Amino acid sequence: MALSHLQITPDFLRAVRDAIDIVAIASDHTRLRKAGRRWSGLCPLHREKTPSFSVDPEQGLFYCFGCGAGGDGIRLHMALTGDDFPAAIEALARRFGVPIPTTPGPRRPRSGEEPDLEPVLTAAAEYFRHDWSARRRRAPTSPGGG
Ligand code: ZN
Repeated sequence: MALSHLQITPDFLRAVRDAIDIVAIASDHTRLRKAGRRWSGLCPLHREKTPSFSVDPEQGLFYCFGCGAGGDGIRLHMALTGDDFPAAIEALARRFGVPIPTTPGPRRPRSGEEPDLEPVLTAAAEYFRHDWSARRRRAPTSPGGG
C-alpha cells in the first residue's frame, strides 16, 4: 500500500538510489549469473531463450539487448512490478532500509498551541450518538410476543 503523502525530495531519491541493489531486484524475477563485473541472465521483461539481460551493479543499471529495455533499479522495479514512480520509491526505500521522510506539511506553532481536535470530535460523536438513540427510541420488544 502506497503512502499518498510520500514526499520525494532529491536527497531522499538519492539515498534510495544509493541503497538499491539492482542485482537483488533483478534476481527476484530471473536467475542471474556473474559475468565479469556484470551479471547476465534471461530477461524478466520479455520471453527469451538466450540471456540478453545484463545488470551492472557498479553503475546500478540494467540493459536488455533483446527488447531494448534499460535503466536504473527504480525503472527495473517499476517494469517488473507495475508500480508507479512514488510507489516504487516507497517500496525500494522500505526494502533497502532508507528512512522515509515525513511530509513537512504546514508549520506548527512552537509553543504547543496547536488545537487538539480530538475532544471536539469526541464531543461531536457523543452528540450525534445521543441524537441518534433518541430518534430510535422505541418500546423494547417483549419476549415471546406475537
Ligand atoms: Zn528484454
